[in-house]
Amino acid sequence: MGMKHRSRKAADPFAARIGDAEMRRERQKARDLRASQWWKRQCAKGRCYYCGSAVSPRDLTMDHVVPISRGGRSTKGNVVPSCKTCNNQKRQLLPMEWDAYLASLASE
Ligand SMILES: [Zn+2]
Repeated sequence: MGMKHRSRKAADPFAARIGDAEMRRERQKARDLRASQWWKRQCAKGRCYYCGSAVSPRDLTMDHVVPISRGGRSTKGNVVPSCKTCNNQKRQLLPMEWDAYLASLASE
């Protein structure tokens, strides 16, 4: 029970909350943020926010901690530099699985 429906849509009750226009606005804000000095400083630290591994600044990507599709915003408090591995994991995993992945990183 509970795990029967493993489709992403079923697992993400917040997906329908945000409209296309709002989505576009947040994506544009993310682009603006990515071009900012603030973001360059975040990347210059050369560290993945999630796993903490040393990453070359040009290999860090901007990740929304709470995805836009789930109501997250493109603000300094919600975007972090992420390595490609963590970014891919986040895209592929269900929110619950992503939490488990983070917990596994913390216990290393
Ligand atoms: Zn990482």
